[in-house]
Amino acid sequence: MTPSDPPAVLAAVACASCPTVYLPRPGPCPVCGGTARTPRTIPAEAVVLAATELSTPAEGWPAPHRIALVELAGGIRVLVEWATARLPEPGRPVRVEVADGRYRARPAASGRGEGELPIDGSFPATL
Ligand SMILES: [Zn+2]
Repeated sequence: MTPSDPPAVLAAVACASCPTVYLPRPGPCPVCGGTARTPRTIPAEAVVLAATELSTPAEGWPAPHRIALVELAGGIRVLVEWATARLPEPGRPVRVEVADGRYRARPAASGRGEGELPIDGSFPATL
């Protein structure tokens, strides 16, 4: 790992009133309504559940805007910005990071380089 690598963990919180671990957000525990919580970290690895490309995103977002629903450890699901040009297939392992206050994901290191083109890159002539 180099200093520029994203952290391998994400900040999360554990509810003090039930076993729920969730991503930091305003308000009480989404399961029991408890307000006491303690900081926790969870692995940044996730699995893609679904992904899509919005050709006409909401105002303020670049077009096309790629998003994916991913599942982290413990069944925590989060909608992320997809960071590469090719949308991921469901079931694909990904790495989640937080940048500018938003969750983003990219393919987990596979050694094959598949799907790791930057958004502004071009597709290779052959796949
Ligand atoms: Zn709770």
